[in-house]
Amino acid sequence: MTKILGHADTLAILKNSVLSKKTAHSYLFSGIDGIGKKLVAIEFACMLNCPSYEAEERHKCRICDLIRKGSHADVRIVTPQKGSIRIDNVRQIQSFLKYSPVEAQYRVIILDDAHLINRSAQNALLKTLEEPPGSSILILVTSRASALLPTVKSRLRHVRFGPLERPLIAEELARKRKIGPDEAMSLAGLASGSLGRAIELLSANTLKFRNALTEVFTAGPDFGLASLLDLSFRISSDVQNFTDAIEFGMTWIRDLIVLKSGGATTSVIHTDLIDILATSAQHHPIRELLEIHTEMAKALELLNSDTNINRNMLADVMFLRIRKMLDYKTGVPSRLSVIEDSSNA
Ligand SMILES: [Zn+2]
Repeated sequence: MTKILGHADTLAILKNSVLSKKTAHSYLFSGIDGIGKKLVAIEFACMLNCPSYEAEERHKCRICDLIRKGSHADVRIVTPQKGSIRIDNVRQIQSFLKYSPVEAQYRVIILDDAHLINRSAQNALLKTLEEPPGSSILILVTSRASALLPTVKSRLRHVRFGPLERPLIAEELARKRKIGPDEAMSLAGLASGSLGRAIELLSANTLKFRNALTEVFTAGPDFGLASLLDLSFRISSDVQNFTDAIEFGMTWIRDLIVLKSGGATTSVIHTDLIDILATSAQHHPIRELLEIHTEMAKALELLNSDTNINRNMLADVMFLRIRKMLDYKTGVPSRLSVIEDSSNA
């Protein structure tokens, strides 16, 4: 059985609503991607239909098993086909809900990625939301509730899902993917509360990539210009890589600012590199860090707003400016900075 991380309060509220018979006919489950909204929706279907669910947390029985496996006759999960949920899908839902449940109490429809229900399908769905057949429950699951028509949203009971706590994600990563606890904590920090995103980052070899960038921030003048431009070229050749690189860079600078201003080390994102960060923080004034941060934010904005932008050039400019600012103020004392320091002494 797939584990549900977090959301204990939401599960408890849903369970109470079932026990006290105060459920709605249609729901909107919203929150960022990769936090387990669909899993909770499936679990809700178990609560609604399992006669003995109240007895224990996450009941195990034939009915619950079938629902969780997606093979129960009365519970259906609808997902977008070729990027959308269309009017014929809504018709199928309507004919499924027309009949009484085969063996359960409710017929449940879970519409995953509900923001991909196209406009005419949303309008067709209104009728069902308006006059739902007696024993049916619809759950729309989405990370972009704003993409739903107001007329649809106003007919749904809204359940909001918050991001997952960082230690929960880190624990799960370390348990399932065999990585060290500090690295897991860093990835969890980068994933902003989404387990799905953390797994994506892990499989994209993010830490390796981040370490290459870390070198730029810590090596300063020792990081040769040719290597810098080569890295800049490799990163900017792919939009996603480039976006990730800027975001990592911003979290790196953010960590330096946190340490510099005496913030709690628990709020540092790159936990596994805290020693390097701490050394590096000693060498950069906050003003300079804020400048680099602004520089990166500008690059990110340009990258997002202008698809025709020359990414290689943008990356070169950004990396060269960062390097210039970091010159002679490096985290790891370089040959040049030692010479400069001794001449000042
Ligand atoms: Zn059960």
